[in-house]
Amino acid sequence: MSEERARELAELAAQAAVCTRCALAQGRTKVVFGVGDPDADLMLVGEAPGYHEDQQGEPFVGPAGKLLDRLLAEIGRKRSQVYIANVLKCRPPGNRDPLPEEVETCTSNYLQHQIRIVDPSIIVTLGRFSMGLFFKGAKITQVHGQMRKVADRFVIAMYHPAAALHQMSLKPAIMADFAKLPDLLKQARAELGKSARGQEEKKEEDHPKQMSLF
Ligand code: URA
Repeated sequence: MSEERARELAELAAQAAVCTRCALAQGRTKVVFGVGDPDADLMLVGEAPGYHEDQQGEPFVGPAGKLLDRLLAEIGRKRSQVYIANVLKCRPPGNRDPLPEEVETCTSNYLQHQIRIVDPSIIVTLGRFSMGLFFKGAKITQVHGQMRKVADRFVIAMYHPAAALHQMSLKPAIMADFAKLPDLLKQARAELGKSARGQEEKKEEDHPKQMSLF
């Protein structure tokens, strides 16, 4: 199963790498397709690449990414144990907001397929454009941290890590929302009738290495 998912993602990434479906193609350095475990039970969806991501071709590698890595570490996960993608695969000029037609083109050609292929139990949306794909007109102040069923999986809206960096008062909320994820993942898997995929096997593999440290 994993090999099939990895193969499908690689094919889609190859298409994205040469995508010219919208004008963002002209200004990009690298397409930022997505990274992580093709079998992840948890998928995080941000907004769009920024400067660092555009340079490196990987999502969340700048300051917001460092905070995301710390939040993941708090729940015992590395970025290789989740799947991370963005609404847009190319950096908008000057980090402007994504345009509706860019969101439509990019998500229908790439993000929707990534979600179908990875098939996570939970999608965490980071920021309002990602949230807007699932909860039209929702207010992040009202819905953040709440798990809702959307079609055949669960979605939780959270504040964008960059927002938490700019507005320190949001940091406790994003931390508390992340801290709930392990329990919510168990709940989501149980309700979806899915067994733990990937993570448990990987944790068991990691275990002997951790033990040997002591
Ligand atoms: N912000 C995002 O939404 N995505 C990234 O990849 C980096 C910053």
